[in-house]
Amino acid sequence: MALIVQKFGGTSVGTVERIAQVAEKVKKFREKGDDIVVVVSAMSGETNRLIDLAKQISDDQPVARELDVMVSTGEQVTIALLAMALIKRGVPAVSYTGSQVRILTDSAHTKARILSIDDSNIRADLKAGRVVVVAGFQGVDEQGNITTLGRGGSDTTGVALAAALKADECQIYTDVDGVYTTDPRVVPKAQRLEKITFEEMLEMASLGSKVLQIRSVEFAGKYNVPLRVLHSFQEGPGTLITLDEEESMEQPIISGIAFNRDEAKLTIRGVPDLPGVAFKILGPISSANIEVDMIVQNVAHDNTTDFTFTVHRNDYQSAQQVLEATARELGAREVVGDVNIAKVSIVGVGMRSHAGVASRMFEALAKENINIQMISTSEIKVSVVIEEKYLELAVRALHTAFELDAPARQGD
Ligand code: ASP
Ligand code: MG
Repeated sequence: MALIVQKFGGTSVGTVERIAQVAEKVKKFREKGDDIVVVVSAMSGETNRLIDLAKQISDDQPVARELDVMVSTGEQVTIALLAMALIKRGVPAVSYTGSQVRILTDSAHTKARILSIDDSNIRADLKAGRVVVVAGFQGVDEQGNITTLGRGGSDTTGVALAAALKADECQIYTDVDGVYTTDPRVVPKAQRLEKITFEEMLEMASLGSKVLQIRSVEFAGKYNVPLRVLHSFQEGPGTLITLDEEESMEQPIISGIAFNRDEAKLTIRGVPDLPGVAFKILGPISSANIEVDMIVQNVAHDNTTDFTFTVHRNDYQSAQQVLEATARELGAREVVGDVNIAKVSIVGVGMRSHAGVASRMFEALAKENINIQMISTSEIKVSVVIEEKYLELAVRALHTAFELDAPARQGD
């Protein structure tokens, strides 16, 4: 008998029919003798609808505490509906909001962090043979205020509950049947991964693969919660996300190709090449709460240098203004920017034990005549910035070069 936490996302509980299907599924697990805790999101579109209402009435500036009171209702509806559907099928069930469980968080409304979980109610219910249905995405602070965990936060609720209960597995049911080597919309030959490590998944998620909320992956890695991504309504093994990095002959060096179009590039030209210049450039950027991703400083000539970095596209204009001011102060030549860039990354723990991975990447891009504007590397990732219009070509070329393409099926 296993203890399993199952999380169903918004599309999986998007209609009463789907909620009934979820109930059938949970019932089957229950009949096998497993203890089940279910975490659900709000019906798809509901959180957006609620946020929109809040914006309408508060000139786009809703008070965070009240916003949390409101958006948490989305999940309150689905927990009750699912519990009803289970009970109707003869499966004893009980629903809890975050505060009823007591998922204690800090008071950072709309982006709260979980501090602790009181598992006594849940344990008592499981012991009494009940399925426990918990509202995702929400908690309560020390003062009793309702808090929420940030968009996509139900994943984190699922993982946190699994960690607190020491569950055998946390299953994330969604509208895809697993984690893929890359986005199948860009590369039809992308394949579902049987397994991926937390570290790789974290890179994939922060680099644009949207299957799981990043924080939930961090959490799962930290507490070593085996995490599985599965399709809500199709049978299949899904993708297991774990700690172990097995070294096998079949194990590909690269697990996946991630990409995003969310970044923009800024260059300040002709800055004096003196100690402290990087700080003078990036200090004001960070004071303006803008996060910098990649950074490149060129070799100096004539005692001046060029300095380039990327920021999120949403921050591009504010970063540009800050940089213009810095340029005047430092007597730099000019500031230029480019929003038509994209970042492509290869990710894989296999890189640790194989040399030449980066050059193989550069070779594949060179063959397609794609110019690399910036490069950054870490132990398990190589990222490049390229012109946005070549993004799809680059991803396809890399997918092939690292032998990730699915074998052609008959008739293909
Ligand atoms: N309903 C929340 C959202 O849309 C949380 C979740 O679905 O994970 O962000
Ligand atoms: Mg989600």
